[in-house]
Amino acid sequence: MSEDLTVKLYDDDPYLREFEAKVLVIDGNEVVLDRTAFYAEGGGQAADTGVMGGVRVTDTRKMDDRIVHVLEAPPSFEVGDTVECLIDWDRRHRIMRLHSAAHIMEHFLWQRLGKIERLGSHVDDKKDRADYEYEGRIPPDELKAVEEDTNRFLAEGHEISIRLDPSKPGLRIWSCGGIEMPCGGTHVRNTEEIGTIRLRRKNPGRGVERVETSLAEDG
Ligand SMILES: [Zn+2]
Repeated sequence: MSEDLTVKLYDDDPYLREFEAKVLVIDGNEVVLDRTAFYAEGGGQAADTGVMGGVRVTDTRKMDDRIVHVLEAPPSFEVGDTVECLIDWDRRHRIMRLHSAAHIMEHFLWQRLGKIERLGSHVDDKKDRADYEYEGRIPPDELKAVEEDTNRFLAEGHEISIRLDPSKPGLRIWSCGGIEMPCGGTHVRNTEEIGTIRLRRKNPGRGVERVETSLAEDG
């Protein structure tokens, strides 16, 4: 396995919001750095946005061994320069809260309904949506119970940690109060940071039920 060109700073410190890095590649408005705290779209988590050397970063993508930052315009800095970067922290912190909440929601959903298969998921700063293989509707009282279980657990203030599986290089396992899930995303340190969540269900198609997790503070 070849080394990644870009070091992912968010793996060691998901709370890092400001950093300096060396510019390795510039291709039009796309920039590759030697290290980055910008999370690249992947694993169902939305890409980070922010500022790099005074230019807006509108998207971040993973391409083979590197992380590509998409800028609003071609930059005036050059390859070899050191640039100052800032991620949109309020947005990222909301993504971290929602992403962690979604794992806990799923644990309690599975506890109520059995381990229904997750077909896909996506989290951004507004909500997490997760699609499950499910015939019919998830009963409203079951969903309410999952919401209550999740909120009770969040309020208990469980620590969240990431452990690495030595037998599977690169695999990161999210761990919280006995719940474990393989995940390479960014997460808060403690469930207290999440607050209270609200669940809604939708039916995007036959045999699929969608559970949306949002922050109660958003109404
Ligand atoms: Zn995850």
